[in-house]
Amino acid sequence: MGSSSATPIFNRNPSSQALNINEHFYLIDCGEGTQQQMLRFDIKPSRIDHIFISHLHGDHYLGLVGLLSSMHLNGRVKPLKLYCPPELKEIIDLQLKYSDTTLQFEIDYYFTKPDAPEMILDSADITVETIPLDHRIPTTGFLFRQKRRLRKLIKEKIEELNIPIEYYSPIKKGADYVAPDGTVYRNDELTTSPEEPKTYAYCSDTLYNENYFKQISNVDLLYHESTFMHNMVERARSTHHTTALQAGRVAMLTNVKKLLIGHFSARYKTLNELLEEARNLFPDTELALEGKTFVID
Ligand SMILES: [Zn+2]
Ligand SMILES: [Zn+2]
Repeated sequence: MGSSSATPIFNRNPSSQALNINEHFYLIDCGEGTQQQMLRFDIKPSRIDHIFISHLHGDHYLGLVGLLSSMHLNGRVKPLKLYCPPELKEIIDLQLKYSDTTLQFEIDYYFTKPDAPEMILDSADITVETIPLDHRIPTTGFLFRQKRRLRKLIKEKIEELNIPIEYYSPIKKGADYVAPDGTVYRNDELTTSPEEPKTYAYCSDTLYNENYFKQISNVDLLYHESTFMHNMVERARSTHHTTALQAGRVAMLTNVKKLLIGHFSARYKTLNELLEEARNLFPDTELALEGKTFVID
């Protein structure tokens, strides 16, 4: 929903992404204007139960208090999980205090730490780990790993053998079935394999730094910030950002399947040169543009 660094410009919004895993939506960063983008792209706030904020530069969270206010005004009562640097609670509390607002729903905070990777969510569907990044203020990326789903029953076969329902659960977990007459039906006759679990790594904002390479290696999809062209590498270094060429290098060295680049500087009206630069080192690169959907397969 947002591919711009620092300020909104050229129809590009500050950082925000919606990740759909098994029809559960996860919001990653929430720059200014994210609510409008959610309306535009039909991402319903009521479907979001987990929000991840990488760091406290405004381009990554200034849309959050607005979104929380709207959730409140629209009658939300179910709790919201917010993964963020601890100081964000202070900011939110202060804004609510001076608008004399008591949210109707609870915010369940998880405070991220920038020094070492940490498992911050472990649900039936996924795990999420922080990725410690190297930026001017404490910053973490997020690594989403889908869990392996159960095996899928072959409906016709189950019906044909008239298998009682209490056997479904063990069969989905891989058990064979022994019929009353003693015949053994192997699990692979009764089920098909689930899809391979997918992984997604979100890395924004950071200096090019190999410390997190091991953690993100081999992911299916890597989003990496790519604020500048490489002729600005000195500026990237001094502001703790990455160039497009370096983003391509990260993807190449970590052997990921696909790369998305974003967090583009306002100095670039068009983005093709950034894309070409990253593709020099990693051909399977795309721009993480507003409104684009990428299917991880
Ligand atoms: Zn930023
Ligand atoms: Zn930043």
